[in-house]
Amino acid sequence: MVSRVIPVEVFDLVIFGGTGDLARRKILPGLYRRFLAGQLPEGMRIIGAARTDFDDAGYRSFVNDAICEFVKPSKHDKERIKEFVENIHYLAVDAMGESGWTELAALMRPGVIRAFYFSVAPRLFGPLAERLHEYEIADADSRIVVEKPFGRDLETAKALNGVLAESFDEHQIYRIDHYLGKETVQNLMAVRFGNVLFEPLWNSQYVDHIQITVAESVGVGGRGSYYDKSGAIRDMVQNHLMQLLCLIAMEPPSDFEPDAVRDEKLKVIRALDPVDQADIVRGQYRGDDDVASYLEDAENEDSTTESFIAMKLGISNWRWKGTPIYLRTGKRLRDRTSEIAVVFKDPPHSIFGPQEGRRGNVLVIRLQPNEGMNLRVTIKEPGPGGMRLIEVPLDMSFAEALADGDDIPDAYERLIMDVMRGNQTLFMRGDEVEAAWAWTDPIIEAWEKARTKPVPYDAGSSGPDDSLMLLHRDGRRWREIKA
Ligand code: NAD
Repeated sequence: MVSRVIPVEVFDLVIFGGTGDLARRKILPGLYRRFLAGQLPEGMRIIGAARTDFDDAGYRSFVNDAICEFVKPSKHDKERIKEFVENIHYLAVDAMGESGWTELAALMRPGVIRAFYFSVAPRLFGPLAERLHEYEIADADSRIVVEKPFGRDLETAKALNGVLAESFDEHQIYRIDHYLGKETVQNLMAVRFGNVLFEPLWNSQYVDHIQITVAESVGVGGRGSYYDKSGAIRDMVQNHLMQLLCLIAMEPPSDFEPDAVRDEKLKVIRALDPVDQADIVRGQYRGDDDVASYLEDAENEDSTTESFIAMKLGISNWRWKGTPIYLRTGKRLRDRTSEIAVVFKDPPHSIFGPQEGRRGNVLVIRLQPNEGMNLRVTIKEPGPGGMRLIEVPLDMSFAEALADGDDIPDAYERLIMDVMRGNQTLFMRGDEVEAAWAWTDPIIEAWEKARTKPVPYDAGSSGPDDSLMLLHRDGRRWREIKA
């Protein structure tokens, strides 16, 4: 396979929150893997910045430990790790105060791309942007990477966009939604727009409905009190599921330039119908002998926050009018699996008799586990005995299809490299985030006003029975939640 990797210019990457959980589990191990792949340029530097009092040696040892814990053992090469950490530095900086900023300014090198990763609590995003500007640490070429959550409603998202805009232009702001960095998500665009096969069928004339499922088997324990303030709609739907929906439903952009793609995604969000409360099911998991209930995990026995949500959406445009989109996401479900299923209509007529050959095709795009795609097709059951039809999946697991399949980069790695290349295609633009909140806010307001409570569901199940009804009443059914 000929690889055409776009080279990256020399950079300084400052990770605010460089001692935090995300940096330890994802960002630093991801950078090491890109280093091993030969994609980090000679002379690059990674600068951890947080409140902890480390010196360079202390932080290098922290990074070494993070690599040993979160990179698979076959890639633990002592010499290579040593070479990698030589590029790493550390500075104690207070996002809310003045300490460390002059030192950080002095550390910057002229003529080198500067990127600042805000891997800290969202309340620090604004103060960090302000100080980078005030201390003249960021220049016109600099980039900031902003983690989720980006606001908790339209008002707070607008306020945050406003604060960032005081110090940075939109082309410098990289709002992360790590779902966009997943291999399969990008493959969704490649499959749609790189083949003639699907696009003519990709509309309400041929697509019966679309299901998007992001199911987790774990509960919210550990971050229960944080989660209790957001719930599934803020934590998953407004961002990750909305982004998947946009990529599935958008019109072909004129090219693969960031704004061309993001313009089309924005149009999808703006074309979403308001959601009727009758088309929403909210759930909360019960506990059992082995696992705690949501209320116990959230340490809030009166919580009305949902750990599960299913909803039916409509898109009012020529392509999709009449094709419902069903979204579903939740915790403590049967399996950990994320997939998008495009369910095509049944063939209009069966030449094989009434019972045969009448099931539509289904294209399943699997995000996890086993990233890949499969297409359900109808074939003849092998052997004599007449024309009996069966359905089989045309299966493509990326790990098998690609030469070095088990080396698919993690979403964070890909996104960080895109920041360095200055490519914003896989990052959310400010107006996209605001449009998603403008759609979400009335949904939340309506259930807050009606004081609706989530319905309980069993841990390890597929969610509340009411969510099955959401499809049954339309003569459809959810795909099984199965890894
Ligand atoms: P964390 O609490 O583990 O780490 C926070 C970091 O911020 C630490 O390095 C801490 O030293 C630093 N910090 C705190 N106050 C500071 C200050 N005043 N000045 C400078 N540094 C300060 O948090 P995390 O889990 O790593 O999350 C970081 C961000 O990433 C958050 O916005 C979170 O929502 C987002 N995020 C995290 C994950 C994850 O898996 N951890 C996933 C998605 C998004």
